Amino acid sequence: MAVHGVLLAGQAQPSQSGQTFEVFAPDTGAKLGDVARGDAGDIDLAAQHARRGFDAWSRFAPRDRERVLLKAAELMEQRAGSLLDLLIDESGSAITKARYELNYTPDLLRTAAGEARRLYGDTFPNDRPDRISMVFREPVGVVGILSPYNAPLALLAKMVAFPLAAGNAVVIKPSEETPLIALAFARVLLDAGLPAEAISVVPGFGADCGAHLVSHPQIDMLALTGATHTGKIIGAAAAQHVKRVQLELGGKNALIVLKDFDPNEAARIAADGIFVHAGQICMANSRVIVEDAIHGDFVSAFKQRAESLKLGDLRDPETAYGPLIHQRAVDKVSQQQADAIEAGAKLESGGHIVRGLTYAPTIVSGTPETCALWRDESFAPVANVRAGKDLDACVRIANDSNYGLSAGILTHDVKRGLLAARQIQAGSVHVGMHPFQSNALAPIGGYKQSGIGRSGGKYSTEEFTELKWISVETGAP
Ligand code: NAD
Repeated sequence: MAVHGVLLAGQAQPSQSGQTFEVFAPDTGAKLGDVARGDAGDIDLAAQHARRGFDAWSRFAPRDRERVLLKAAELMEQRAGSLLDLLIDESGSAITKARYELNYTPDLLRTAAGEARRLYGDTFPNDRPDRISMVFREPVGVVGILSPYNAPLALLAKMVAFPLAAGNAVVIKPSEETPLIALAFARVLLDAGLPAEAISVVPGFGADCGAHLVSHPQIDMLALTGATHTGKIIGAAAAQHVKRVQLELGGKNALIVLKDFDPNEAARIAADGIFVHAGQICMANSRVIVEDAIHGDFVSAFKQRAESLKLGDLRDPETAYGPLIHQRAVDKVSQQQADAIEAGAKLESGGHIVRGLTYAPTIVSGTPETCALWRDESFAPVANVRAGKDLDACVRIANDSNYGLSAGILTHDVKRGLLAARQIQAGSVHVGMHPFQSNALAPIGGYKQSGIGRSGGKYSTEEFTELKWISVETGAP
């Protein structure tokens, strides 16, 4: 099997240390390849290339940056067939989720392409009549990208396309679970005409390769999509270097169900919102808070829904989801669940391994709020259901969390839904829908420990640019 190299200046190269690591399909355990294991030496090289790449790329006219990103969108569509297999195999995605990523990625690239023309500046008045003040928006420089495994194509595309649109260069340290899809995505951009030094991919592990990227003096800014505990480490390290960060972190998202909503329909929406990709979605509704009056009906409908889900062949469009990414993920949720049940929670459905790394659709009710299953991210197909006396109580329960990424409220009373949405402490709130919603223009990000900053459309442009005030004295000396 050929080794997949570090991607530097458009060339695949062995790592400086000569070390490699293996990548396996989580569903079958089959080996997918050996990948160069980058570390500090490779990051140093990538950073040197990126400085030159930044000089070249930041001088591209907006319409030329737009053209490259539009071409990349087109190439993505042409390569969707081969990327589909890679997504299914490397990230254990069911085909419907893999197709979702493949459809969303060109959308993100095209939205970012539009942003290339929108680096608006400003002017403002000065009390001295001879003084002219202008504000320019400029790229930050080189952005270090640390990407996650769960949506390894679409999230990486989002993390890369918007900084590029603004004229930045990028150095990518992809998830160690999904380096192959990151390498394939970077090839798309290179083939679309991105200058070779404006993008590098250094596969490797967080603790050495990622940590070196974070502290490297030639990396101007960091973007992480990952776990909250990783965000804390990276945020602290970045602070040592007074480096800008954008952090998109974990969630323990609430879906509130009010009594005017049909419990069967609510159960369908709640199941879609937690069981998609085995709950390995940052915005999954792992907490469902149901108004007392329909709690019992909702739980029976939700159980029925969970038990009807089909698991198995990832290439079957009927398959709801596939495996968790690795054994550690299975162990983590199993432990959280066992502790919750020991503390008095009731297992309503599932709660076991189906086969390999595939965990059954699981519903637990009455989880004490002190339990990790209720408080911490599980990133697994486990929904906690709890009753709330009325809307105010449901909102209070939803807000009692260290996280604040996304939320949903199921009601037909749009006015009440809107008022509650304003009270919920989360970066997005969706009325009549579950919390897992995406839109390339939306400001995605979290309150509290779910992150810092927003990504998507003009909000990404704001994150990945610096503002510069330039003034000119026009009066006589
Ligand atoms: P992770 O935090 O383990 O890893 C993310 C990236 O950070 C990887 O590339 C990893 O190698 C790197 N990394 C880890 N430790 C590091 C360190 N000490 N220094 C530098 N880099 C380091 O996350 P994951 O397990 O790949 O992804 C799942 C997590 O991502 C979940 O918590 C999920 O909620 C979150 N997520 C958030 C969003 C969002 O939009 N808010 C989207 C998707 C996933």
